[in-house]
Amino acid sequence: MDLGLQNKVAFVAAASRGLGRAVAEELAQEGASLIVCARGEKELQQACEAIHQNSSAEVFGVAADLSQAAALQRAIEQGLARFGRVDILVTNVGGPPAGRFENLSRENWEEATRLLLSSVLDLTRLLLPGMKERGWGRIVNITSIAAKQPVQNLILSNSLRAAVTGFAKTLAQEVAPYGVTVNNILPGYTRTERVEQLAQAMAEKEGVTPDDIRARWEAEIPMQRLGEVREFAALAAFLVSERASYITGSSIAVDGGWIRSLF
Ligand code: NAD
Repeated sequence: MDLGLQNKVAFVAAASRGLGRAVAEELAQEGASLIVCARGEKELQQACEAIHQNSSAEVFGVAADLSQAAALQRAIEQGLARFGRVDILVTNVGGPPAGRFENLSRENWEEATRLLLSSVLDLTRLLLPGMKERGWGRIVNITSIAAKQPVQNLILSNSLRAAVTGFAKTLAQEVAPYGVTVNNILPGYTRTERVEQLAQAMAEKEGVTPDDIRARWEAEIPMQRLGEVREFAALAAFLVSERASYITGSSIAVDGGWIRSLF
């Protein structure tokens, strides 16, 4: 299937590793040019080089902290100066801290809101006008299974992913007449560095092994295994493609069957 991404320019947030990186790799292999951001300059530049080598796509890295609106504006300005336009926006962030309501402060909530919700709003605000003007655009937000089925001890993620979902559904309706689609992808347990670190940290806390923690997660997943980042990135590539032109306002999970609800 030709996804029609050859002449498109994509901005992928938080893409030096994990899910964002996998999406960037997939889009590069489909022929898109890329602007990618993450906080650490060195890791980001290494990611850009690796993506370029694997695909020969043009990859432009801009270091930016997603919780800082001014930094995002600078990143977008630099990206636009390089490529002239951005057709595809993939929003993504690092996960917020775990915790229950009574263990989290007002500052925790404010910081998580800046990172998980405001970064999506800021990036959309910066890139939507150009998409509308050209009559073509794709916005995909990487959220979480927590948006559909709250995960214990993750109240920040459960709450703020739901806010992004409400925003995206409403925006999808507002911009549909302009050829711009807005969708969310909900990753389930997927093997990334962060998930490996989480298994390690939980194992140390409970006096068990990381394998025990992974086995516990796998027992909750009908497919009985964690997902691979490429399985996730394949859906992202489709949703931002020419071929997904009639899909908007949707939230689609890549979770091995973890979510138990009908819709
Ligand atoms: P990861 O830690 O492997 O990668 C996160 C990326 O975000 C890195 O490139 C990092 O540099 C970047 N980043 C973090 N904070 C940033 C900031 N303030 N500014 C700019 N860049 C920043 O994480 P991942 O596993 O790929 O997860 C990505 C998102 O998906 C997270 O929000 C996570 O909560 C969510 N998620 C992941 C899983 C999973 O199993 N991997 C499941 C559900 C939800």
